[in-house]
Amino acid sequence: MNSWSSTTKIPQIPIVIDSKTNEHVSIIGMNYLYAKDELAYVRLNNLREQRFRCYRCKHVVILSCRSDPDSLHGHYYFFRHTPDVQCEWRYDSPSKAEIYQGVQEGFRHYELKQLIANTLNQLNGWTIISIDKKFVYSPKTNERTKPDLLATFGGKEIAIEIQLRGESPLRILKRHEIHKEREAYILWVTSNSRGHTSDDENESIDFRQVHKDIAYSNRGNRYIFTKELAAESVKRGKFILTAVYEYPEINDKAIKTSWQSINVPVDDLTFDSGNIYFVDSVKLQAVLRDRLRSEGLLSAKKLLTTKRPDSFENFQMLVKPVWPTFDKDEDILRLKSMYDEDFNERQLKLKKSIVRYFQSASWRTRMDGKWWKNTALAVSAHNFGIKSESDLRIVEKIILILGIPLSEHLCIDHKSHIRACHYFFDSKSFIPYRHLCKAAMIESVHGTEILLHPTITSRIEKESKIVVKSDDLDRFYEWFISAPNLHKSLLQ
Ligand SMILES: [Zn+2]
Repeated sequence: MNSWSSTTKIPQIPIVIDSKTNEHVSIIGMNYLYAKDELAYVRLNNLREQRFRCYRCKHVVILSCRSDPDSLHGHYYFFRHTPDVQCEWRYDSPSKAEIYQGVQEGFRHYELKQLIANTLNQLNGWTIISIDKKFVYSPKTNERTKPDLLATFGGKEIAIEIQLRGESPLRILKRHEIHKEREAYILWVTSNSRGHTSDDENESIDFRQVHKDIAYSNRGNRYIFTKELAAESVKRGKFILTAVYEYPEINDKAIKTSWQSINVPVDDLTFDSGNIYFVDSVKLQAVLRDRLRSEGLLSAKKLLTTKRPDSFENFQMLVKPVWPTFDKDEDILRLKSMYDEDFNERQLKLKKSIVRYFQSASWRTRMDGKWWKNTALAVSAHNFGIKSESDLRIVEKIILILGIPLSEHLCIDHKSHIRACHYFFDSKSFIPYRHLCKAAMIESVHGTEILLHPTITSRIEKESKIVVKSDDLDRFYEWFISAPNLHKSLLQ
């Protein structure tokens, strides 16, 4: 078989119009598809019959030939213009080069199709239904496509599609869908990674893209078939292809993929919902992604307990380097709930230690404010209202009103929750914080008892207008009673 390499000189007229059928015929097609006597007839009669015309200028052309032992008929046939015709294609032009490239691609496509058909014809188990003839229809959408080859193998219908040039990903997917909906399978045969016709970089980018698009539609797999594989297939009695597949691996906490290949009989491939693949690269990648996600969550958890980030934003910053595959869309909710859970736990712990501080000897006997000052410093990044200058006597009474006991005597049995309220009506330094007392009365688990107590109702009746003092204790109170809630949890 002749191979049309880039060194082949572009013929004067790469494509002609057959005015009998109104079809385009390429110069390569002429050489391969017509018998020797047909070609001889055209040589003698075309000027009189005016059948073949130049695609570019539409003038009648002459079929010539020269001796060429590599050509099918021992001669290489080509068209030329009559001497009087002026046509752009008499000279090299970009339009001609482009058309000739298409002609060559078309021929390679034809050659490969013949190679596959000839091979399958020699193999048991394979039946060719049609070559380039039969349209197949999607039962759902009624859309149609014409596969290059339609065959059956082991009771399965297989469409063999040859894709040697750039193609839109949408059309690739569409063809895939049609076969899938028919419960048939599609086998994509592509070229080798390097383009055949030229070393043009743009072309190889096109090739790389179409290979990716095809593999993407087929669980990361595409196939290559060559004359060598045809011989091997016939020898072993099995249709053997080179499977090229994307293989994912974990490298430095990220998924890295590489293209790998193996010669494999179709019998050993997996047939699954329209796809034929050697390795399910999509599934493999999902497994690796899940593994990285579990590892990422574990590292994040460790960071949370060791670094104690001040905010979720800081937590995310810390997580980035230990979890490079962190995906904001997919993972952020899980990370946030992990942070919130931990943050809530820490807040509850802090609320408990505040209560323990007011129960401790250092406050109860010495009114030592050192612990509070240290704590205020430690949590200064958070807006908890805990300040070194806070009036701790107010805090203590509010805790009592909420129903939390602070000592053997300061407890519900001794009415400490009611007595604590009296300060906010009777004592000069407490009065400006009465709004906190009232809020705590309502919030308290013993609220009804407090509000109905005669010592409270009489005080509320006689209440005079006061100047309210608003400071960080407002914020402290709001934080202390908010979720996670300590005073109510104590009741359970
Ligand atoms: Zn012309």
